[in-house]
Amino acid sequence: MRGEGAMRFFKIVCCSLLFCFSWGVAQHSEVFRENKFRLQELQRRTGTATSVAAITAGQEGFDVTYYNLDLQLSTPSRTLTGSVTIVARSLAAPLSSITLDLAQTMTVYSVKVGSVNVNFTRGAGTLIFLLDRSYQSGEIITATVNYGGAPGGTGFGSFAFDSANGTPWVWTLSEPYGARDWWPCKDHPGDKADSVDIRVTCDATLTVGSQGTLIDVIDNGNGTKTHVWRHRYPIATYLVSLAAANYSEVSGWFRYSPTDSMPVVNYALPAQLQSATSTLPLTINMLHIFSDLYGLYPFVKEKYGHAQFGWGGGMEHQTLTSLGGFSENLIAHELAHQWFGDMITMRTWPDIWLNEGFATYSVALYRERKYGLYAYRQVMGYEMTNAKRATGTLYVQDTSLVQTLFDSRLVYSKGASVLHMLRRVLGDSTFFQSLRQYAADPALRYRDASTSDFRAACETVSGKDLGPFFAQWVYGRGFPSVDYDWSTMPDGPGALVELRLRQINNASEPPFFTMPLDIRFADGNRDTTVEVIVHAAAHTFTVRLPFTPLNVVIDPDGWALMDVRQAPVNIGQEGTAPDLFALGQNYPNPFNGSTLIPFSLAEPSTVTLEIFSLLGMRVGLLQPNDRFPAGHHVLRFSPADDSRDALPSGVYFYRLALPNRSPQIKTMIYLR
Ligand SMILES: [Zn+2]
Repeated sequence: MRGEGAMRFFKIVCCSLLFCFSWGVAQHSEVFRENKFRLQELQRRTGTATSVAAITAGQEGFDVTYYNLDLQLSTPSRTLTGSVTIVARSLAAPLSSITLDLAQTMTVYSVKVGSVNVNFTRGAGTLIFLLDRSYQSGEIITATVNYGGAPGGTGFGSFAFDSANGTPWVWTLSEPYGARDWWPCKDHPGDKADSVDIRVTCDATLTVGSQGTLIDVIDNGNGTKTHVWRHRYPIATYLVSLAAANYSEVSGWFRYSPTDSMPVVNYALPAQLQSATSTLPLTINMLHIFSDLYGLYPFVKEKYGHAQFGWGGGMEHQTLTSLGGFSENLIAHELAHQWFGDMITMRTWPDIWLNEGFATYSVALYRERKYGLYAYRQVMGYEMTNAKRATGTLYVQDTSLVQTLFDSRLVYSKGASVLHMLRRVLGDSTFFQSLRQYAADPALRYRDASTSDFRAACETVSGKDLGPFFAQWVYGRGFPSVDYDWSTMPDGPGALVELRLRQINNASEPPFFTMPLDIRFADGNRDTTVEVIVHAAAHTFTVRLPFTPLNVVIDPDGWALMDVRQAPVNIGQEGTAPDLFALGQNYPNPFNGSTLIPFSLAEPSTVTLEIFSLLGMRVGLLQPNDRFPAGHHVLRFSPADDSRDALPSGVYFYRLALPNRSPQIKTMIYLR
């Protein structure tokens, strides 16, 4: 699922930010924030956070294998009536009753088990019926519920009798807990049916889209038609949908082998037909890109497509995504969900990042494949900026409200950022192999997964222990803020660079993060990037370089979710105005052989360091007019090397001069 705010951002960003990305992030992230999902507070007041997210009491004893929905829509009265047949396998012996989720706004007329009418009762949001006998473990139960009513709309809408240009428009959006608002089911993502049939009877002017293959359109001769859809892949209840309107239809083919192809179909309102037509080749191209990245499109024996609905975003209904409009990033996000969300569904709602983080990250991968690395970094730059506003753990603690369950900063942006960082940790080859391994695992494919399943796939491929990575990024909160400063010391023709990093994490958990970090050193002509592993609150790294750097950039390619700040150079005595530079005491002092002379610059400058005897004779000259960056630096004075004649033991002055500044002078003691 993706709300319209995020997509509007991309529409603006993608055309205007090619040359001005950092400006764009600042500007348009505000747009994003103001245009968050059109959230309606979940109206399910009867359930607590856990009771909504967890399996309903009484549902542990059976596993649903099949649903048949046979629904009649009356748009004038905004009601639906019909029957839902459920086939389930008993997991408990003896099993004597079945509990289904069904909103109380829907009236149950009768329940049959096999051909036997059975007694039923209604609980808070449930339907409980007695079985015709006790069922042993493994026995199959077939039950049909006849029901009807005016379905309510919780969460993002559940079931809407809408209109478009004066004609009826019916659509559903059940995620997360809204399937039960319009059909009786075991409404939990951890119990997928193996297949589903959906028959929808409504006004003959409407075209109905749903899951899988359109088997038949029956003209009932009474002003109504029945669309018959058949889906033969496992599916979670929240991914079952219908969309009905006077759609225009446009279709093409995904040719996935020299001899095989699959239909791709768009159902669009007539006014959007042009957009639905022009984006069809994009969708087909995306099917190729994602099939290449994650393995062949998972529902390839049936179809992929879009049906327009009245919610301003997208929802990854299985094989038929619902879209508010046909925009490229939205299409990519929802298509990627067919692998991550639909084929592999999060086992429980707190792991929703396995759906949304993956789909969000897939947009970046799609853009990288299509437009290049810069486009990837553009998307991730935006997502990481948004992720820094997230609070709480990526593993969602409060799943009772759609606002927290679908927090764009957290499960979307931080989720994508975690995959982005994992790519850096594993390296490209291992990372993409891990994604494919996860998507291909028979224990997960067409089933469900948890964070630990994904972690296990990555660990199997990489051979690395990723426990700390997932602990800090999925179950921890926040991100590191890093202060750094650095200094250089001459080392032959090059330099020894000392880099000091400090993590300052006020509200984060853990108190410091472990991560690889790229450091780029440059002198204007050359640059070198080294990797350091940050694994403590404070670090000092020493790097030997063949040149003296003028510039140090932490994480130059933007791999780390972190704030970086160069520590301010504190110059000047306490109580006096800060100066532009400071000269420190040499060390060791007294010295023999050589000594180090520290100095600090508040801004880049050329410097000259001279050594004088007590009589005022210059005996040494270091770095005349060399340019140094802001920061702390150290120069080495070696009298035996630097002076023509051996210096006698004694007191010497050293003097640091910057252009147009009064020099600073200190003394040192040389002992031969
Ligand atoms: Zn999504």
